[in-house]
Amino acid sequence: MQSTIQPSILHAESETPKFTIECVRCHSLYQTDELVCKNDNGLLRTSYTSRHLHMHDLPGIGKFLDWLPVTAQINTPASPVTYKSTGLARELGLTNLYIGFNGYWPEQGAHIQTCSFKELEAYPTLQLMQESGNNKIVLASAGNTGRAFAHAAVGTDIDVYIVVPESGMSKMWLPEEPTDNIHLISMADTCDYADAIQMAGKIANLPGMRSEGGVRNVARRDGMGTVMLDAAVTMGRMPDHYFQAIGSGTGGIAAWEASLRLRADGRYGETLPRLHLIQNLPFAPILNAWQHSRRDIVEEIDMPDPKKLIDRMYADVLSNRHPPYSMPGGVYDALTDTNGAMYGISTQEARQAKTLFERSEGIDIVAPAAVGVAGLVQAVQEDALNKDDFILLNITGGGVERLKEDFTLHHLQPEFKLDSQDIDIELIVR
Ligand SMILES: *Cc1c(COP(=O)(O)O)cnc(C)c1O
Ligand SMILES: [Zn+2]
Repeated sequence: MQSTIQPSILHAESETPKFTIECVRCHSLYQTDELVCKNDNGLLRTSYTSRHLHMHDLPGIGKFLDWLPVTAQINTPASPVTYKSTGLARELGLTNLYIGFNGYWPEQGAHIQTCSFKELEAYPTLQLMQESGNNKIVLASAGNTGRAFAHAAVGTDIDVYIVVPESGMSKMWLPEEPTDNIHLISMADTCDYADAIQMAGKIANLPGMRSEGGVRNVARRDGMGTVMLDAAVTMGRMPDHYFQAIGSGTGGIAAWEASLRLRADGRYGETLPRLHLIQNLPFAPILNAWQHSRRDIVEEIDMPDPKKLIDRMYADVLSNRHPPYSMPGGVYDALTDTNGAMYGISTQEARQAKTLFERSEGIDIVAPAAVGVAGLVQAVQEDALNKDDFILLNITGGGVERLKEDFTLHHLQPEFKLDSQDIDIELIVR
């Protein structure tokens, strides 16, 4: 009977959009490049026509194309890699500990050359931008995001403008020669990340320019969500627990959303993985608000004197003064829906965890990832887990030292160095 379907019907079927974008709260539909619900400020979320995750036979995140908000194939070797731990698992007495490794470790099949999971956001984002007719984008970054977007843009015809505070400049390297569509703007050391965000906002208002949208960009979240997808496919089920160090918590939201899709798929289990999200003390506004059962972050209570607190962090990449916590579909909702837990980790605990991980797993990891490992250690010490539970530890970045054995790092040079907001921005973008 299948073969008697009229060609016109087949045609109509192929016209069905692969996905729609809708508000998590009121379910209003939006265009693919819109970023916020006008009714209730809710996050917009992708709804995919394909309820089942069909894997494509490709090396990188392109294998998850069914659940990425782009149409054309994505060509990159970058992908999360999930493997079952033996070393760290033995140290912690766990029997089903899986590592989601996001970095460079070719012996383990990991080829994220900018060494953090931000690269998983960058490829789908640039492609979505292109597919929706935008080829100039601007973002502010304290380091890892800028590096990831620069790398993903090398050799493309998308102009990427990256505004970086001076403190993030040392993180702005690439494993290849940069191309001239990558524009770096640095802010003098009298300016901080908040100034970089403000400058990026001004540039975004220029004609033809788009802001990449941060947490509100579905391509970023669904790109990060592939860590959960890869784990579920590897384990043949969703994990019971998901551990990740957070600053904004975007990765936590992404993991939750991916698990909602996996639950709807039906083949990966019914119970959503419990989110265990970890902040780096002393700057931990999400932890503080969550511990007081508040949906809102109160600046005076949860992050008094932020500059001073951020200066004392071990992993300053994890500082975010305006995390997407309260809005519909944000971190508060993700934690609530998954019966989640928050942790606070000191510098000393993070350092010890870094050594423990590197010794037991045999690969270097970045400071924020060590904060995540320390969160798992704390959960084990507090008996928050059963030893046979299926656990996914998101190693959000690693393999920088390993990468240096194979690649020469090229440091990006700024086209402009700004020492205030006070500049004719038309000069920057010509
Ligand atoms: C951005 C980043 C994080 C935090 O991610 P969010 O989910 O956005 O808070 C953790 N680790 C590394 C290496 C990062 O670059
Ligand atoms: Zn809405």
